[in-house]
Amino acid sequence: MRLNSNIKIQNSKLQKLVPRLLDWFAANARDLPWRRTRDPYAIWVSEIMLQQTQVKTVIPFWERWMRELPSIEAAANAPSAKIHKLWEGLGYYTRVRNLQKTAQQIVKSGKRKAESGNAVYQFPGNFDDVLALPGIGRYTAGAIVSIAFNQPAPILDGNVIRVLTRLFGIAENPKEKTTNARLWQLAEELVCGAHNSRWGERPHELKQNGGRAQAPARENVRPTNEKTCSHLNQSLMELGALVCTPRNAQCLICPVKKLCMAFKENRVDELPNLGKRETATARHFIAFAVERDGKFLVQQRPAGVVNAHLWEFPNLEVTGTKPEGEAVFHKLFDVKPKVIQPLRTVKHSITRYRITLEAFYVSLGGTGSTRPHAKTKSRIRGAGPSGRISNTGRWIAPEEFDSLAFSSAHKKLASAAAKSILSGR
Ligand code: SF4
Repeated sequence: MRLNSNIKIQNSKLQKLVPRLLDWFAANARDLPWRRTRDPYAIWVSEIMLQQTQVKTVIPFWERWMRELPSIEAAANAPSAKIHKLWEGLGYYTRVRNLQKTAQQIVKSGKRKAESGNAVYQFPGNFDDVLALPGIGRYTAGAIVSIAFNQPAPILDGNVIRVLTRLFGIAENPKEKTTNARLWQLAEELVCGAHNSRWGERPHELKQNGGRAQAPARENVRPTNEKTCSHLNQSLMELGALVCTPRNAQCLICPVKKLCMAFKENRVDELPNLGKRETATARHFIAFAVERDGKFLVQQRPAGVVNAHLWEFPNLEVTGTKPEGEAVFHKLFDVKPKVIQPLRTVKHSITRYRITLEAFYVSLGGTGSTRPHAKTKSRIRGAGPSGRISNTGRWIAPEEFDSLAFSSAHKKLASAAAKSILSGR
């Protein structure tokens, strides 16, 4: 896929949009930590974290990741347990495994550049090379090369789709092939328009403000023609995130309202037309915080399933009439519990599933032994929704919970289990 920076904006509306979006972004962009750098590795990490996740959630995760793994090489060489722990709570864990696979591929390809006397691995700067990396699609490749290298690569994510369908009054479903291609084309014309504009070279603030001095934009969003592609793409995302929101769009303060079809025709709430939403499917799991001698049994999820490699309490998916916790317990274990009582119920959603995780605290009493496998492995007949036999069970004390990466729902159970010990159930 070739980037074509010579695309000319035919449409006068697009021509008017470019400076308005750039002006607005220069004055209104949020000061996000990854906007203070042009390091493609840092930008790549932020883009992967931001998939399906809100900005405010991502900030502490990104800062911690960059502190712990500040280079491609560090990410490539980090132990699997460490990358999962750093991602714990962000969800969609395939992202972090792909990220590491990609870092390893870059390191293996051995592209280095000298920087302050040290050799560092270089992130590819070419759109096609970035797109060829594992886990990086057209959107992410466009975001990385436009933001880090100011290349005129378009981006199209949910925010940009919303802004463009409303601006151009596109009523067809954006997932439909020709409509999607049209949206990519509009995004491309806009970023190429920014690339070819002389926006950063003109006395921008003075023109904008009738010749009066204006407060300078912050350093990280300072108007300059070295950043026009980066800023144009980010302006579309930012407008979608802050102003052209899914509900209650702030059209009255929108910098492009005069050019917006949906606003003009009072169709803002109708667009984008995303078709019928898939109905959510309810799923019910029963989990057991099994305690013996002050330690709990946890197991690691196998590769190839949702939340692979994360830790969890033994659990089973149940269907039909609500079964009794004790009956389900006996499907998983051969032992007779001393105590079994409700611990906590956690409700959450993963993709189109609405999940109820109902947990029980189970005490086996003191046996004098807390060795993990020797005594427990043969007693666990099955564990987890995958239905696989658990061979990764471990008995751990509540103080050790923090050393393992749990899925968000099971982390809540871990905290409830720890409290149950403290309260001396
Ligand atoms: S005018 Fe309203 S609908 Fe149109 S782009 Fe602006 S916020 Fe979105």
